[in-house]
Amino acid sequence: MQEKKGIAILGSTGSIGTQALDVIEAYPAYFELQVLTAGKNADLLIEQAKKFQPNSVVITDETQYQKVKDALWSEDIHVYAGQEALCQVVESNEVHTVLTALVGYAGLKPTIHAIEAGKTIALANKETLVVAGELITKLAREKAVNIYPVDSEHSAIFQCLVGEFQNPIEKIYLTASGGPFRGFTYEQLQNVSLEQALKHPNWSMGAKITIDSASLMNKGLEVIEAKWLFGLEPDQIDVIVHPQSIVHSLVQFEDGSMKAQMGLPDMKLPIQFALTYPARFKTDFPRFNFMDYPQLTFEQPDRKVFKNLDLAYRAMADQGTAACALNAANEEAVAAYLDRKISFVEIAQLNEYCMQNVVNILHPKYEDYVATDAKARAFIQAEILNKQRV
Ligand code: NDP
Ligand code: MG
Repeated sequence: MQEKKGIAILGSTGSIGTQALDVIEAYPAYFELQVLTAGKNADLLIEQAKKFQPNSVVITDETQYQKVKDALWSEDIHVYAGQEALCQVVESNEVHTVLTALVGYAGLKPTIHAIEAGKTIALANKETLVVAGELITKLAREKAVNIYPVDSEHSAIFQCLVGEFQNPIEKIYLTASGGPFRGFTYEQLQNVSLEQALKHPNWSMGAKITIDSASLMNKGLEVIEAKWLFGLEPDQIDVIVHPQSIVHSLVQFEDGSMKAQMGLPDMKLPIQFALTYPARFKTDFPRFNFMDYPQLTFEQPDRKVFKNLDLAYRAMADQGTAACALNAANEEAVAAYLDRKISFVEIAQLNEYCMQNVVNILHPKYEDYVATDAKARAFIQAEILNKQRV
């Protein structure tokens, strides 16, 4: 019998994490769940642990440790707490693939540990590649570790490349839904509410990525993610708005041929493909019907109104730690926006201001990313405090 694939899910209580559990549950003969981790949501982590009986769980919020420990005392499950524990559990011998489904910069260090331990990476946590793509891809090459994309656009590109790995890419097109504010003028964008920003037209996701989708920062982060995943130059990556979210992205080859991957918007498919590649497992996910979408449309993104997309291209051109600073600024700005401390348009303003003020370090080492992340966050926090005083 084929050995089961041991899976660690970092961020199992989130949007990607819970959908990944549905995928794993559907193929009990193929997957063995080894590790589950949560940030703060102890109740859901406990429920998941009782159901899936992993080898270990981690709750990174240490104040919740006793609660999780007490609830699982009669189970044969190791319980750990804190960020450092994430780095240890991914190294376990039983783990084959680590699905990085936690949000933000917190994904960087455990991903480095997982790669160093030779684990296959199913990467949802795009921020890891945005912050330190140079370091991560170099390390993965050295350790002969594969990084399979979970992000739907990057999964689409990857699916188009299967069987084509020897053929150079001329260009890729990342599709973007345009978010809830597609077609808005800058004046209209100044008055949008948090509730509107949290309502994505096609996808149900965690709060941070939902705001990033509304501000087009998500597409900016994905451009940088694509650069590192597929080894592309900035001018080989284009963004096209496609409001129906049916074409998940496209590759153009050197003979002019274009390949696209299509389907209804459902993250379970890219999650599953990252875990089962090169196989495709049979699913009962709803199938696409052409008559439900007689028109698929495409348009240019408005980079003047949605400045974050340009900031991402700028950070990519600047290289070094520029994208790390942009990511940190954005994480802080989005957190402040979710706390109703700043307005929607101030997110991009703060991001730009941070890029102008935090020094870019070329050829960075790990410590340079850590220092830049801390500097950018401190800079944005001070700016937000200043705004509140005025
Ligand atoms: P969610 O906010 O829904 O979930 C995030 C998960 O990470 C939760 O399990 C949360 O725990 C945990 N977490 C949050 N902060 C920390 C921290 N500091 N340390 C450790 N764990 C933490 O996010 P999503 O699932 O939407 O997104 C996850 C990643 O996948 C992001 O990088 C996102 O960009 C990417 N992605 C998501 C898509 C989607 O459809 N949702 C699509 C494509 C990419 P808890 O809730 O217990 O606090
Ligand atoms: Mg995406």
